Amino acid sequence: MNSSICKNIKTIQEKIKETAERIGRNPDEIQLMAVTKTKKKEVVLEAYQCGQHLFGENRVFEALEKYSDLPKDIELHLIGHLQRNKAKDAVAFVDWIDSVDKTSTLNVIEKECRKADKKMNILFEFNTSGEESKQGFRNEDDLWRTFDEVADCPHITVRGLMTIAPFTDDVNTIRTSFRRLRSIYEKSTRRYPETPLDTLSMGMSSDYEIAVEEGSTMVRLGSHIFGVRH
Ligand SMILES: *Cc1c(COP(=O)(O)O)cnc(C)c1O
Repeated sequence: MNSSICKNIKTIQEKIKETAERIGRNPDEIQLMAVTKTKKKEVVLEAYQCGQHLFGENRVFEALEKYSDLPKDIELHLIGHLQRNKAKDAVAFVDWIDSVDKTSTLNVIEKECRKADKKMNILFEFNTSGEESKQGFRNEDDLWRTFDEVADCPHITVRGLMTIAPFTDDVNTIRTSFRRLRSIYEKSTRRYPETPLDTLSMGMSSDYEIAVEEGSTMVRLGSHIFGVRH
């Protein structure tokens, strides 16, 4: 099954390109992140050898275990919820934290970054589905309040927003969720013109083509690249 990883990545890249060109977007604006949760280190390395350099992990512990001796030109994102007691390891170890959804998390990251003398890229996660089980800001006011706090966090750079679409087969519901994030992203660029926003992370294995149509600049795929998780 592993030998199919390169082929899968290539197929997905082509699909992204096709979709982008169909709607008049530049395909180079869209990055593919390989999500490796539950998958082994060998599998990550295989994707890397196919030219994949952008990876995502949900848990700090798994990221540490798997990525500590992998090539340094890998860009690793934490895409799962960050627990306070894992912040130190996360800061030492990942390049981006894509799942910040409260001021307290922002402050913990800033504190650890200051100690480690390190800068961190972050995304704010927004809950566009309304599903209780999902993380993320639930309303814009909370997002703006936290966004304002970034002014006091010199070690943190906000790069954009992230969301997970609702768990459904209904294309319109998924599309509505992506449109919501894009609209909040556009508001963010107007509200915070000094912030170098360039990342709209949305779209997973089952919905990345819709996400590309709705403006995604970073799609996060696990099962389509590595096979279903058990
Ligand atoms: C697991 C996960 C993905 C990838 O999911 P697939 O459906 O396997 O592509 C993307 N984003 C987040 C936040 C995830 O937790």
